[in-house]
Amino acid sequence: MCENYSDRALKMVQTQLRPRGIHDEAVLRVMSTIPRHFFVPHADLDDAYSDRALPTHEGQTISQPYVVALMTQLLEAQPGVRVLEVGTGSGYQTAILASLGAQVVTVERSRWLSQEARGNLEKLKLAGSVVFIVGDGSLGEPTLGPYDRILVTAAAPRLPKCYLDQLKTGGRIVIPVGDHETQTLMSYDFDGQKVTAQEHIAVRFVPLVGEQGF
Ligand code: SAH
Repeated sequence: MCENYSDRALKMVQTQLRPRGIHDEAVLRVMSTIPRHFFVPHADLDDAYSDRALPTHEGQTISQPYVVALMTQLLEAQPGVRVLEVGTGSGYQTAILASLGAQVVTVERSRWLSQEARGNLEKLKLAGSVVFIVGDGSLGEPTLGPYDRILVTAAAPRLPKCYLDQLKTGGRIVIPVGDHETQTLMSYDFDGQKVTAQEHIAVRFVPLVGEQGF
């Protein structure tokens, strides 16, 4: 049923992403080429390119395509940038970052999910620029930092302070901040002295569980 996946991915870009203001051509190109159906459970294959989040395993979710696109656009992940991603999940977002040419360190607390994600990226020949870590990403991954960008794909009660310590000057963090029910997608820019916060859209993510999470 996904033989025609490239048509469906292209339609997803044209109907869900462009009309809502995703304008970064690199992001649009990558999202029209990554096979999203690789990353969703078998039972949800028909919905792989639909305008909604989908369950993955262990009660987790793969975000709605628009939210993935917006977070990626906000991240401005040009080729060569070092990105820390917290919440590997299915690996869909990881694949997008790797396709954009980023060097990705991705942290997931579930060993099983991390292994599945690695398998998916290997199939797509994208695993070469990704380091998969199993652990508490609410603490970042200081041994492999500092990073140009930090992307958190789970809801945090507040910005973990340690992320700022692991961010380079001129760097940016994109993270959903709020309570269990609803969060605001935030970006934080660090110029070496001060941090500038910006609010984007309301979102709903599964919680960041851990020492600096819920
Ligand atoms: N970006 C993913 C969606 C992630 S869902 C995708 O594209 O599929 C959020 C993920 O964050 C879940 O897999 C969950 O297990 C993970 N998570 C929650 N708390 C975490 C923590 N402290 N450290 C690492 N991963 C965490």
